[in-house]
Amino acid sequence: MLRTHTCGELNLKDVDKEVVLSGWVQRIRDKGGLIWIDLRDRYGITQLLMEEGRSDAKLIEIARNLGREYVIQASGKVIERVSKNPKIPTGEIEIDVTRLKILNNSKIPPFTIEDQTDGGEELRMKFRYLDLRRNVLKENLMLRHKLSLESRKYLDSQKFVEIETPYLIKSTPEGARDFVVPSRMNQGEFYALPQSPQTFKQLLMVAGYDRYYQLVKCFRDEDLRADRQPEFTQIDCEMAFVEQEDVLNTFEGLMHYLFKEVKGLELPVFPRMSYDEAMRRYGSDKPDLRFEMEFVELNDLTKNHGFSVFDDAELVVGINAAGCADYTRKQLDQLTDFVKRPQIGAKGLVYVRWNEDGSFKSSVDKFFDSETLKQWAEAFGANPGDLLLILSGETNKVRVQLSALRLEMGNMLGLRDSSVYSPLWVTDFPLLEWNEETGRYHAMHHPFTAPKPEDAHLLESNPGDVRANAYDMVINGVEIGGGSIRIHDRELQKRMFHVLGFTEEDAQNQFGFLMNAFEYGAPPHGGIALGFDRLAASFAGKDSIRDFIAFPKNNSGRDLMIDSPSTISQEQLDELALKIVLQNKE
Ligand code: ASP
Repeated sequence: MLRTHTCGELNLKDVDKEVVLSGWVQRIRDKGGLIWIDLRDRYGITQLLMEEGRSDAKLIEIARNLGREYVIQASGKVIERVSKNPKIPTGEIEIDVTRLKILNNSKIPPFTIEDQTDGGEELRMKFRYLDLRRNVLKENLMLRHKLSLESRKYLDSQKFVEIETPYLIKSTPEGARDFVVPSRMNQGEFYALPQSPQTFKQLLMVAGYDRYYQLVKCFRDEDLRADRQPEFTQIDCEMAFVEQEDVLNTFEGLMHYLFKEVKGLELPVFPRMSYDEAMRRYGSDKPDLRFEMEFVELNDLTKNHGFSVFDDAELVVGINAAGCADYTRKQLDQLTDFVKRPQIGAKGLVYVRWNEDGSFKSSVDKFFDSETLKQWAEAFGANPGDLLLILSGETNKVRVQLSALRLEMGNMLGLRDSSVYSPLWVTDFPLLEWNEETGRYHAMHHPFTAPKPEDAHLLESNPGDVRANAYDMVINGVEIGGGSIRIHDRELQKRMFHVLGFTEEDAQNQFGFLMNAFEYGAPPHGGIALGFDRLAASFAGKDSIRDFIAFPKNNSGRDLMIDSPSTISQEQLDELALKIVLQNKE
């Protein structure tokens, strides 16, 4: 037997037991004839003890030649420790070792396998299997496992059926870029990896499965950001015979269940907010509701005072940073620099300090007297000691800019506590958004999302005004998932493709299978997909999803460990009848 127990389970109750443990050597201390080894496995660390003179000489010799990360097997008796370690569950005992066997040796690892490691990001990605030995990552993956298990339990209890859909599908240009896979048996033709199982889950509804789910990999060839991965996991779901309300309640239920089971937390009822309202009040379709700092629009109070910046602006809007009137000039300059960064792109920042003594000091004193500034402050519901931060410009742009500033202020003031969870539903998204580059409308969610019935008549005449039965689940300013009620009527789907600029032929070529299916009794249906990696990160109060994926890619989409992507052999290319011509490379 290679082990009788794990390294995380023995305690005082086990004293005097003869045990066998196996694991990795975390640390060796050799002091005046006493040798201690910290033996680690997935479950924890148990201390091994050997003593020169008392323990077998051969044993001491083996112990002295061990290195970090050697895999060993130790047999011996559980004894009570003299100096106990209250920080770990096995801290009151140690093993008086009688046999030691090296199961495998190890090179010296390129970084220390400790909670605080000395390894840089690149190195740790390259030796991911060593990084995964560290507690931090181990706990992340355990959390992920628990979340997937509990999600399955809940969905099963709600009569959802897990059904797998194919990974080799057909490329469709709508949405993000596809990853494609050449077909050997059909030379010159390509599969695409699914950006999501969207059409398949809808077909499952036509097939009558009623409630489908799948923890599924999705692939999108997009430019990467810290919180994006080219392949990621969704909890993907679809339901038939439902309205939006049913979907929201079912998945709010899932979140309540998960937070309860996994974190022991009772989430509140999720507030609902329309897209328009979210944009107006927070400048974002994923507002962080852990703090208020709501937008206040000041057009009426700012126009016609000779300040052309405001006079020419479509929108003048600000936030109140309560208690920040004592910000120094330098701090205000830093905030101005922040909003002027190219990623944010504001031209400047107007501030108004309402000093504790009741006086006002602003960056626009030349144009506005104290009386007017006081009116602004009152519009914010501000108090002496508060600081107003105001931006102006084109409505959509300025809202996004102010939203970035609001989040920055939230960070600076410590209002974005990672142990607090503020969920909400954002609903009534626009169905379409205008794309300047292509000069046409694109589906904001995807082309299968249904317009609100009361707006459907505007589809051709006023597409930009059509709202969708689409919704996002947002927690702490992060979009955890989104979905919609779908079109299940062939004619409406046809109109939708038409508005999106598809010719009838293109629509038939690409999505004929779905539109045809709609002719065989498609039930009303809708669904949602939650970003599972992101959900896991958010449960841990972390931003980066990479630490919640066992083998992630880096920012250039590379797997540094297996060194992928890579070239393939001429033989493989020949089989696929592919010839590589790199156009933009020397
Ligand atoms: N397939 C959609 C997505 O991946 C989610 C949904 O509409 O259910 O965003």
